[in-house]
Amino acid sequence: MSEQQEIKTSATSSASEGGKRIAIFGSTGSIGTQALEVIASNPGSFSIEVLTAHSNDELLIAQALKFNPNIVVIVDEKKYQKVKEALTSTSIKVFAGEKALEEVAEMDCYDLMLAAIVGYAGLKPTLKAIQNGKAIALANKETLVIAGDIVMRKAVENRVPVIPVDSEHSAIFQCLVGETRNKIEKVILTASGGPFLGRKPNYLVNVKREHALQHPNWNMGAKITIDSATLMNKGLEMIEAKWLFNLKPQQIRVIIHPQSIIHSMVQFEDGSLKAQMGLPDMKLPIQYALSFPKRIANDFPRYDFKKVNTLTFEEPDVKTFRNLPLAMEALDKGGNLPCVMNAANEIAVFAFLRNRINFLDMTDLIEKTMAHISFIEKPTLEEYFESDAEARNFAADTINL
Ligand code: NAD
Ligand code: MG
Repeated sequence: MSEQQEIKTSATSSASEGGKRIAIFGSTGSIGTQALEVIASNPGSFSIEVLTAHSNDELLIAQALKFNPNIVVIVDEKKYQKVKEALTSTSIKVFAGEKALEEVAEMDCYDLMLAAIVGYAGLKPTLKAIQNGKAIALANKETLVIAGDIVMRKAVENRVPVIPVDSEHSAIFQCLVGETRNKIEKVILTASGGPFLGRKPNYLVNVKREHALQHPNWNMGAKITIDSATLMNKGLEMIEAKWLFNLKPQQIRVIIHPQSIIHSMVQFEDGSLKAQMGLPDMKLPIQYALSFPKRIANDFPRYDFKKVNTLTFEEPDVKTFRNLPLAMEALDKGGNLPCVMNAANEIAVFAFLRNRINFLDMTDLIEKTMAHISFIEKPTLEEYFESDAEARNFAADTINL
């Protein structure tokens, strides 16, 4: 286990009396709402201090009335008045705007941030929470893809645990408990393969957003669902694994496992493989990240060996799903390339979801953007921000967005 992981035990077990005080950044999303279900089932273990949403004012208001946080943030300033009025009879403080996310992350009213905003927007508040010494339960993988070196360095400097929520990384994290002194030979990330497993380019060229949004095993936000269909999600996860577990690119492998029962594996130097298994349900890794190092009893459905009695594995089709090799290139070269790739991907997914480009165009756009933006080997945080903006502008201009 790395230095990072050793810090974790002490930092997250120090909950205050009313339970661990949680700030959910992105509370109206798929991860955010499932986290609130977990917290509602364990009222003595957690209290909700902060809830944030981009624009879903109605859900944010309902969540605030139910969980009575200290603070809510609505990013869309047009919605401020409505949220404020709906909560006037409470003592909940209401803030609005993008900057408010960072300001609230810097406050002292919480113990752990669940980073569940999607995309680049999650990076800055998460960095502020780390600088503020707050434990992070990390769902927002883009944060590590964009600036993993800086994020993890700051986490170590501030003695802040970064506990993965992503199911694959939670699986690896769980496999590493008790293995502090043992070297990892490799980690094997499992991938469901998404809705288009086995399909070829002549089919993919015609798929539409509605089709791509149907994931066989997981019910997730729109962006990650498209990323799963293109296999970019697995590419982002390879980069996420590098930073979380301090691995070399060649130690990170991907295998398609359509049943999504094995959530990922670690192979040690003696060849022994440890896997973490269960039904595909994000509530389990969310709960583990919130309660770590403890496990909490729950009544989630259990895996039944009689129902899913065949687990299969196959190599990813990297000729068809070219986002995965593009991400592997970014993983290998490092520098600002993963940041550039991520920015281009966010634009590509945005455009695909609005029927502006087709499924395969997404890969072409990412490839072009990666080739166009100047490579920086060791970027500063400012240079990551600039690379992100340059890549976004180039990608948007390329498709006349
Ligand atoms: P989602 O789209 O369902 O929710 C996103 C949340 O972020 C919402 O609360 C939204 O209001 C907020 N948000 C969106 N844009 C914002 C912006 N510009 N500024 C501030 N807030 C903004 O997404 P999700 O599926 O819950 O995913 C969240 C993160 O977790 C992503 O990074 C995703 O990759 C990761 N993740 C999700 C799952 C899953 O099962 N959904 C699994 C693993 C990892
Ligand atoms: Mg995942």
